[in-house]
Amino acid sequence: MEACNAYYYATRDPLGAAGDFVTAPEVSQMFGELVGAALADCWKRAGAPADPIYAELGPGRGTLAADALRVLRSSGFAGEVHFVETSPVLREAQKPVVPNAHWHDSIAELPERPLLLVANEFLDALPIRQFVAGIERRVTVVGGGLAFDRDGEIVELSPARDDAVTAIAAHLAKNGGVALLIDYGHERTAPGDTLQAVSRHRFASILEAPGERDLTSHVDFEAVAASASKAGAKVSPLVTQGDWLQRLGIDARAQALSRANPDRLEEFNAAIQRLCGAKEMGALFKVIALHAADWPQPAGFA
Ligand code: SAH
Repeated sequence: MEACNAYYYATRDPLGAAGDFVTAPEVSQMFGELVGAALADCWKRAGAPADPIYAELGPGRGTLAADALRVLRSSGFAGEVHFVETSPVLREAQKPVVPNAHWHDSIAELPERPLLLVANEFLDALPIRQFVAGIERRVTVVGGGLAFDRDGEIVELSPARDDAVTAIAAHLAKNGGVALLIDYGHERTAPGDTLQAVSRHRFASILEAPGERDLTSHVDFEAVAASASKAGAKVSPLVTQGDWLQRLGIDARAQALSRANPDRLEEFNAAIQRLCGAKEMGALFKVIALHAADWPQPAGFA
């Protein structure tokens, strides 16, 4: 999974209608603007310190960063922008959108400064391991194709995800700041096979065309919360993306935007439905915040 995804992201921009999948920031500017508003509010309540940086993990096309930074800049935030991005193709896509960003290969390389950090659909792309009756399930070659070597009730673990969350949380505990982690997943650890492949906006076979399809799994937010608090961060309650965006005022944002662009009212309403609707992204996607003990919990979680 690690090798497949490294190749997959290194060789293409998978986002958008012509690609394999569409993410929330690509649905509407409102998503990134509300992320920016939540970070700006948290930063101000922390006393508007001068040293934090905006950091994003897996920023895709840079759309979320551009929308969030527009709001952060207008709130007076003047900090640097740091991206953790391993894909050379996506780094090239991000450069013109966020021209003065700094790029890193890993979370450990982020500067020792307070963070206003966002990761949208980053954790789901990190590799998992699956176990059946305590034995790791592996991929073998059978008759020229690939197959799983065992079946049964599956338990998933993601050491790579635990490491990423631990690195973020330890950074926050040491240097201050806040992190918003947004992804599809579940609130409680439970057995089940959530590994999936997506190609051209449809679910595809996991073992066909390795490296040519987006391989992801659902994020176990109970495991995320446990890793984060073990590493010294404060952890918010988990909320659905729909509830979070509603509490941050997505309806008011759509009204404000449609006053300036009356012909786009339908587009803004359709975006709210897509981002917040329980049958669309609103319930499957969840949001959790991690923060330093001396930073406030961001808005939208209670
Ligand atoms: N956040 C963006 C893109 C999500 S796709 C959006 O919401 O549109 C996943 C992103 O994570 C891509 O930018 C991909 O290149 C990056 N990525 C995947 N695995 C990574 C890894 N191990 N380290 C750093 N970036 C990674």
